[in-house]
Amino acid sequence: MKIYITGLPSGYEVEHLARLFYPMAPLTLTPPEPAEDCLWAEKTDTGLRVLVRQGEKSKTLEAPLPLPVEQGGETPEFALASLTYDLLRQWTGIRPPWGKMTGVRPVRLIHDKRAAGWSAEQIDRFFLQRFDCSEQKYEMAKEIADLQEPILRLGNAPKTYSLYIGIPFCPSRCSYCSFVSCNLDRDRKLVQPYVDCLCKEVAEIRVQAERAGLTLCSIYIGGGTPTSLSAAQLRQLMGTVRENFDLTKVVEYTVEAGRPDCTDAEKLAVIKEYGATRISINPQTFSDAVLANIGRKHSAQDILDCYADARRAGHEDINMDLIAGLPGDTVEGFEHSLRQAIALQPENITVHTLTLKRASRIVIEDQKENDYADVAAMLEKCHLLAEAGYRPYYLYRQKNTLQNLENVGWCKPGHEGYYNIYIMEEVQTILSAGAGGSTKLVADGGKRMQRIFNFKYPNEYIQRFAEVLDRKKGVAEFYDHDLGTETTG
Ligand code: SF4
Repeated sequence: MKIYITGLPSGYEVEHLARLFYPMAPLTLTPPEPAEDCLWAEKTDTGLRVLVRQGEKSKTLEAPLPLPVEQGGETPEFALASLTYDLLRQWTGIRPPWGKMTGVRPVRLIHDKRAAGWSAEQIDRFFLQRFDCSEQKYEMAKEIADLQEPILRLGNAPKTYSLYIGIPFCPSRCSYCSFVSCNLDRDRKLVQPYVDCLCKEVAEIRVQAERAGLTLCSIYIGGGTPTSLSAAQLRQLMGTVRENFDLTKVVEYTVEAGRPDCTDAEKLAVIKEYGATRISINPQTFSDAVLANIGRKHSAQDILDCYADARRAGHEDINMDLIAGLPGDTVEGFEHSLRQAIALQPENITVHTLTLKRASRIVIEDQKENDYADVAAMLEKCHLLAEAGYRPYYLYRQKNTLQNLENVGWCKPGHEGYYNIYIMEEVQTILSAGAGGSTKLVADGGKRMQRIFNFKYPNEYIQRFAEVLDRKKGVAEFYDHDLGTETTG
């Protein structure tokens, strides 16, 4: 099955919707041969036409050109994408759970429409009719939007920001990972110089934030795997954070303890002692076979031991990440992992859907979509979370996610991860420290935005650290900017 699109400046929307039904179909620049299986979508001067052909069978849908947007119509791109979706839904009998919705932040869309004064009925129609979103997914998105509203008001307070600190080291590389993360064994000599630079950057962020008149709201130390650092390095980093910021004023301080193969009781105690209020221990799965498949060098029992260590160290707010759709996993296996996580009673459980990123080993080694079990059926099991007293509080989608499904953070009431909401809904300034860090500056209620990027790789970050510090001056400069001038980045 080939995808061929003509007549549009960008066929991106059409391609994206076609891939809901044929995820691995290649895009071709030449017209398919008469006998070739294909999806052929075209806009001509007179109308829109989509053809699907498989073997002896074919089906075509046609439509007139849409009215211009100013007259209440659609863009030709959306109209052709919509026609493609309608045809493929009829042809395959498949109804994608999110319908024609290709955006990655459906909850944000609800907030935006509400802020623009749309009525509840208008938003319902927008999701259910225009985008053919399933009732189940839409109801979940709405429930999350309701729950987030008071938290977003807090994060939206003028001139508040969150601090992100990245640790791009891991004890081994997971097969699905596309992050820039260095192997700890290979690059251990980089870790100490990296932490030294990071501490200086954290101090500079404090200076710039003070100059800009910003107030710190939440802190997140993520990765990579922050517990790749030794206990002494964690003390150095978290000590620097404590010296520079008044932790009594932050609403949340998260450290991703991540993987049990580098997290021990001492590190968990340091994280607690230096003020973290929330940690993540991420099993991804409780199947030893699947853990081995994805390149993790630890067992399910190690996760249970690590979790017990964390509780002994006094951590009272723990998140556990699971991934639906890992290679070699099954619907029953995923349900087992979910039940195991629920039995531990962490305050948060985040369920991700596997994403096939180009830079990951899974894609490089060219496994096919069919190598993965039914992810939609796995996510159906999340009713177990609701039955155990968890509720969904943030949701986002990524490109190239299996079956175009979503990632959802579930929590016990009162344990919403604020940083996760702020980053997903893009309402707040995020000042980032470390390699690959992306600082996002937001002002005027989101009307002005600008990004400042750090170098991607740790060795470059260390070698060109003077430039990293210099770029941070952009924070205060952004807020000095004449508020009447629009800047986007
Ligand atoms: S622990 Fe996370 S960042 Fe590290 S290799 Fe695995 S997925 Fe990538």
